[in-house]
Amino acid sequence: MTDNADDFGRNMVANLYRHRGTTVESASARDAYHTLAVTIRDRLIERYARTAAAHYAANPRFVYYLSAEYLLGRQFEQNLLYTDTREQARVAASALGYPLDDLAALDAEPGLGNGGLGRLAACLLDSLATADIPAVGYGIRYDFGIFTQSFRDGAQRELPDDWSHYGTPWEFAAPDDRLEVGFYGHTEAYNGSGPRRRWVPGETVLGEPSHMLVPGWGTETVNIIRLWRAVASSDSFDLGHFSAGRYGDAVENVTHVENITRVLYPDDSTELGRELRLKQQYFLVACTLRDIVRRFRLRNEDFDHFADKVVIQLNDTHPVMAIAELMRLLVDEYALDWDRAWGITRRVFAYTCHTLLPEALETWPVSLVERLLPRHMEIVYLINHHFLADVERHFPGDHDRKRRMSLIQEEPERRVRMAHLAVVGSSAVNGVAELHSDLLSAETLRDFAQLWPERFHNVTNGVSSRRFLRIANPRLSGLLTERLGGEEWLRDLDLLADLESHADDRALQERWRDIKRRNREDLALHVKDATGVVIDPDAMCDVMIKRFHEYKRQLLKVLHIVTLYHRLRDDPAADVVPRTFVFGGKAAPGYHAAKRIIALVNGVGAAVNADPVASRRLRVAFVPNYNVTRAELIIPAADLSEQISMAGKEASGTGNMKLALNGAVTVGTLDGANIEIRDRVGDENFFLFGQDAAEAARTRRGYYDPRSFYERDPELRAAVDAIASGAFSGGDRGAFSSVVDSILYHDEYLVMADYRSYVDTQDAVDGAWRDADRWTRMSIMNTARCGFFSADRTIRDYRERVWHVDPVRVGPHHPVTAPDR
Ligand SMILES: *Cc1c(COP(=O)(O)O)cnc(C)c1O
Repeated sequence: MTDNADDFGRNMVANLYRHRGTTVESASARDAYHTLAVTIRDRLIERYARTAAAHYAANPRFVYYLSAEYLLGRQFEQNLLYTDTREQARVAASALGYPLDDLAALDAEPGLGNGGLGRLAACLLDSLATADIPAVGYGIRYDFGIFTQSFRDGAQRELPDDWSHYGTPWEFAAPDDRLEVGFYGHTEAYNGSGPRRRWVPGETVLGEPSHMLVPGWGTETVNIIRLWRAVASSDSFDLGHFSAGRYGDAVENVTHVENITRVLYPDDSTELGRELRLKQQYFLVACTLRDIVRRFRLRNEDFDHFADKVVIQLNDTHPVMAIAELMRLLVDEYALDWDRAWGITRRVFAYTCHTLLPEALETWPVSLVERLLPRHMEIVYLINHHFLADVERHFPGDHDRKRRMSLIQEEPERRVRMAHLAVVGSSAVNGVAELHSDLLSAETLRDFAQLWPERFHNVTNGVSSRRFLRIANPRLSGLLTERLGGEEWLRDLDLLADLESHADDRALQERWRDIKRRNREDLALHVKDATGVVIDPDAMCDVMIKRFHEYKRQLLKVLHIVTLYHRLRDDPAADVVPRTFVFGGKAAPGYHAAKRIIALVNGVGAAVNADPVASRRLRVAFVPNYNVTRAELIIPAADLSEQISMAGKEASGTGNMKLALNGAVTVGTLDGANIEIRDRVGDENFFLFGQDAAEAARTRRGYYDPRSFYERDPELRAAVDAIASGAFSGGDRGAFSSVVDSILYHDEYLVMADYRSYVDTQDAVDGAWRDADRWTRMSIMNTARCGFFSADRTIRDYRERVWHVDPVRVGPHHPVTAPDR
């Protein structure tokens, strides 16, 4: 594919005719956007064809990444960068009469993910392709993502996220590859003895795949992500009902089937909602494993080689039924004996755990699994039977241990423990930061770590430098490229360390500050647009962007803001550094406590922004609908990164890495990957506060009286009293009483215990900010020393510790022989 501007322009005009059926004179902005996207896509699809051919020829071991979520972010800028066609595209766009940025703004962010776990999946796929590792990501093609967030009277409002309303140029449908997925029904013996049985489903639905391209940076490899959507067969539509005017009844079946992939994480507060979630999980697993087996059999016959060609990484427990499904395929459909099938299955799977909270480890009622997936329930029982016999061999007579480790929880209700199934059925289990992996082995999965210590690993998360530096922060990237003498740092982020010796260089510091300021100006424009709030681009940009969750402690941040507000109210000359508090984040629709905190942030923000004295120094901006696109805008402008979860609760965090790489200094607890960030950037370039994980656990276990902190600390008391008195809810004392009660009487996440340490540390932040040279040095050191947090390094760790896969280089002119989807 040639890449000069004339060819690109001609391709684009031809695509306009062919794909949009329109002409240059009458092309709308959306016509132009779509056509431009397709023209870029042409460059990728040609690389993809070569990649598929190279993979087919090499018959390598593939990494299959299974995830319920992919938080991909917009594709347009990324694909311009990865095909190196930005300049050609700019020229071609303006020939159609549109500025490139206006067209880029029409690109919709795919609504396929939710938070950190989904973004991790996207970053890992990017790094897999960049490292030339043969890989496919498997997921669900949701009609609506999580939801679009807006605010009404400060409260979160949820609207459907119809992200593909206009279609998306980045997705290829493959309706010919539809396959059937069963649910319900019964099982029966057939064809001889042994564990082999036949499942006769009571309902079947169609799974239809589509795929999106996942290019590597600076390489020819283009992998794919394959997404499954539930579709009703054409006879699901009831023409009889329709003719009789019963239009609702006519489509009832269609709706019933297609609801399986309607939304991400259907509300599970009802019985039907829970069933739909499990259905969704099995739907992903069933489609995916059939596809993996099909791909294997393109080049291989004997299942004894299956584990040499396939490694399946389970991203959390949502896809863990894959273990039972592979056993079902091997034993029931391919007639392998149980032990052989189990040996293969165990070698194939690896499991990433993303939580520490025992209550967050997923379980499903046995009664539901029995009804929805009767054969899988039998298989889980059989796996459990063999597993418990193994435990008995290692720990004879230890019945309590067997009860704890069983795949089936007995009390208060019989439930299948998905994390246990994952550990038993995998050859490797990993946590996502050092502290998290340590705590997993020592606490959450202790019994398993004792039985199989060799299975447990740590793989600290990472983020894409291409997405979160190069695309999100072109100004800083330009400076880095200039200083480091080329773009090689985008593939080897450790090269950032070269900056360190220039951290005191005057000229560098000036440019660094100038870039931050201009990024804050850009953010100010967006904030004004999105919220009406005017912010001062010279004020410190203090950022807390992440899902709203009590353990993440947005409430602690609110108490700090109220405290500063009070200081200024009591003394307008108080020594408070000008700051903009930027919030972003959604709360799960059913999580009422988190939604109250969102309303409180908005209430406090309204009061501060309207106060004639406080608003001269402080502003609060809550950017609605936090997603990857918003993250790319906020992160480059950030000076201070709030990572203030209660220690021992955040598995890793990745927002912390993105912000540090962009030169934000962290104020944080010793939690998740904060610990590793601090180890690298140095104590003097990190603001540490609060109890560590061991202390916090001790506090929670002992006699903890949150009220005593309230009583002893006048600033804390004033802040809590103001919230309780209705100061941020138009005088309504009831509005935030649940929030106040939660910290005064339970305070599960130690907001009260850590408040003083937090506020004092924030005063130290103010002190550091006043010394601009010192602050800039800290900022530079954060960028220079965080190369470790590249997802490329994460992929190297997975390769060495878990996957044992080799790259396959794709030549520039690989003959296109047998394309392998
Ligand atoms: C990185 C990212 C997250 C994860 O943020 P944490 O601070 O690690 O919880 C969530 N959402 C989006 C859109 C992200 O880009």
